Amino acid sequence: METTRFAPSPNGSLHLGHAYSAIVAHDLAAERDGRFLVRLEDIDGARSRPELAEEFAADLAWLGLEWTDVPAQSTRLATYAAAAERLKATGLLYPCQCTRAEIAAAATEHGPEGPLYPGTCRGRPVDPEGAAWRLDVSKAIAQTGPLEWIDEVAGPQHARPELLGDVVLVRKDAPASYHLAATLDDAADGVTLVTRGKDLFAATHVHRLLQALLGLPVPRWHHHALLLDDSGQKLAKRRGSPSLADRRHAGDDGRALADALRSNRFPAGISLG
Ligand code: GLU
Repeated sequence: METTRFAPSPNGSLHLGHAYSAIVAHDLAAERDGRFLVRLEDIDGARSRPELAEEFAADLAWLGLEWTDVPAQSTRLATYAAAAERLKATGLLYPCQCTRAEIAAAATEHGPEGPLYPGTCRGRPVDPEGAAWRLDVSKAIAQTGPLEWIDEVAGPQHARPELLGDVVLVRKDAPASYHLAATLDDAADGVTLVTRGKDLFAATHVHRLLQALLGLPVPRWHHHALLLDDSGQKLAKRRGSPSLADRRHAGDDGRALADALRSNRFPAGISLG
């Protein structure tokens, strides 16, 4: 059975971009008699606001969507820690004490997520206490060999995890980074079609590598286009895109909004790109 998901982070209210993403995932599952899951990605300790869970559920219901909740990431920390231990035992992870500022100062290349880690801590003795743990991507690829994955929209892909460099898998302040947590969750939740915006396309190269290293099933992906504002940037509340909750409280019709998004009718100044 096809299983899609929407995995919002409760760092702020949902806006139209989230609505679009949830509708795409919901409708793909519905067309295929599948399941549509919602998972809270709430392990970003400092920014996470658990009370937003209720707001998100009210927003999705207002849009007329039906879904199945799966456990939030904060309830799965032991699973992440166990997977991180397995990866550490393979010798493919190394501790890193670099700060963001040090990385920014030393980086010579930029990847899709910002400055590429220049490998400062790779192969040097580092105190593992309170360290982040990074994946030695070249070593990992040497072990797995070439990997492929399929995006329903963009077609077959060769995995190129090196584009993101030696990503963090265990954060200094959490037992897993987004990459590790989301990959484990999609497998645990039985997701067959990982549905999300194309801003996360490059992350999938890393997720495919993690699946190979951890022996996880390989889903397909559907990276959809993003809603952009009139300056061509991704919608964001901080740039004035009203939240779904604001629209809901103002008495707007959520189902009509969902149908408008489905037929690519967007509010003024917003386009799909
Ligand atoms: N939690 C991420 C976000 O809100 C989405 C991650 C994913 O869909 O894989 O942007």
